[in-house]
Amino acid sequence: MTPAETPAATPAATPAENEVAELCSELIRIDSSNYGDGSGPGERAAAEAVMARLAEVGIEAAYIESEPGRGNVITRVEGTDPSLPALLVHGHLDVVPANAADWSVDPFGGEVRDGYIWGRGAVDMKDMDAMMLAVLRQLTRDGRRPRRDLVFAWVADEEAGGVYGAKHLTKHHPELFEGVTEAISEVGGYSLEVDPSLRLYLIETAQKGLGWMRLIADGTAGHGSMLNPDNAVTEIAKAVARVGAHEWPITLTPTVRTFLTEVAAAFGIPFDENDPAPVLDKIGPLVRFVGATLNHTANPTQLDAGYKSNVIPGQASAVIDGRFLPGHEDEFFKTIDELIGPKVRREFVHHDIALETSFDGALVESMIAALKAEDPTARAVPYCMSGGTDNKTFFADLGVRGFGFVPLRLPGDMDFASMFHGVDERVPVDALQFGVRVLDRLLLNY
Ligand SMILES: [Zn+2]
Repeated sequence: MTPAETPAATPAATPAENEVAELCSELIRIDSSNYGDGSGPGERAAAEAVMARLAEVGIEAAYIESEPGRGNVITRVEGTDPSLPALLVHGHLDVVPANAADWSVDPFGGEVRDGYIWGRGAVDMKDMDAMMLAVLRQLTRDGRRPRRDLVFAWVADEEAGGVYGAKHLTKHHPELFEGVTEAISEVGGYSLEVDPSLRLYLIETAQKGLGWMRLIADGTAGHGSMLNPDNAVTEIAKAVARVGAHEWPITLTPTVRTFLTEVAAAFGIPFDENDPAPVLDKIGPLVRFVGATLNHTANPTQLDAGYKSNVIPGQASAVIDGRFLPGHEDEFFKTIDELIGPKVRREFVHHDIALETSFDGALVESMIAALKAEDPTARAVPYCMSGGTDNKTFFADLGVRGFGFVPLRLPGDMDFASMFHGVDERVPVDALQFGVRVLDRLLLNY
C-alpha cells in the first residue's frame, strides 16, 4: 500500500496487525498436509499451536479429536446482547500436500519475502486461521466484547471432505453451535481492482452442487465373434459420448446474474445475458473461480469394462463428475437421465447439495460497512463458487447461512485464484493486516 492510497482514517498499527503475519508463518511451518487417506501428519500440532496462542491471552477453548491426530479447536466469545443469534467464524487447519521440488521456497518454511508470506496454506487457509487468532486475541486483551456470541472454530479435514472436522463437530457436538444462524469462512472477500478508484470485493454467497455418478450398462455377455445386439460396452460408450458432448445452456442464478451485472457496470461495459464472455474477460484469472458457474457441467472421468479381447462383458460402467447450479438440481438430473437413455442406469458415487443465499440482511450490510471503512473504494459483489467449502452440507444442515468472507485487499496484478492449491502459494502481509482491521470491525460491531 503506498502512502497516497492509505485511507486517511487508518489508525496506527495494532498488536493484531503486528502479529498476524507471525501467526500465519507459525501455522504454515506446521505441516498439516491432508492426503485424504489418513496417511498425513494430521492437524493436532496446528491445533495445539492455536490452543497455545489462545491460552496465552487467557482464552479457554475446547480441543476435540475426531480420530487420533485429527485436531479441532472451538471456543465461544459471549456477546453483550444474548437476544442476538450467534455468528460462526471458521477456518480449516489442514492443507493440500505440496511437492517441494516445484517451489521456489520451502512450502513449509513460512518465509516472509518481498512483502509476502510464502507457503502451503498462505491463502488456503492459514491466512484466515491467523487473522481469526489475531483478532480474537486482541478483543480479549482489550477486554472488548462483541454484541452477539461469536463461535470461533479451527477445524480438521476440509480438504478431504470434512469427515474428521466440520462433520464430526456438527454431528457429535451440535451444542457447540447453539444459537448460530450465520457463518463466515473461506474463498471470498478478496479484491479485484477495476482501477485505483474502484475495487470489487467478491463475497461468496453460492456454491454449485456435486453429483459424482456411476453409469452402469447391463448387457448380454458372450463370445466376441458372434452377433450381439445387447452389448454393454456399446451402450455405455453411447451414453458417455452423449453426456460428454452435451452443451449445457447458460442458466443465470440470481447470484451469478447480480455478479455479472455488477462487474459489467464497474468496468463500464454492457452485459448481454446471451453472451457473458466479454464480462468474464474483465475478471482475468478469477475466471477460474466463476467460469463454470454459468451452467451445469458433466464431465466423463472414468470408464471400466471387459477383461479380454474376445469376450463381451455383461456389464460396463463409467463415472461422470456432475456439478449442478443451485436451484436447478432436478432439471440437471432429468437431463442426465434423458442423455443416458433407458438402457443405462446411474447411482451416486458422491452427492452434495448446492447452496445459494441472498446478498442482503444485516450481516451483508456489516461486511460492506467494514470493507468500506478500511477501503473507501470498496464495492462488494456476491458470487457463486464452482467448488465447495465446509459451509456446505455440515453447517448448512444446522440451518446456518454461510458466506465466503476472508477480507484481503490484494495488489491489482496478483493472480489470486492460482494460489489455491498452487505452487508458490503466498499472501501479501499488508493484505492480512487489512483483513485483521476489517474482521475486527465486523466482529465487534455486527
Ligand atoms: Zn480451503
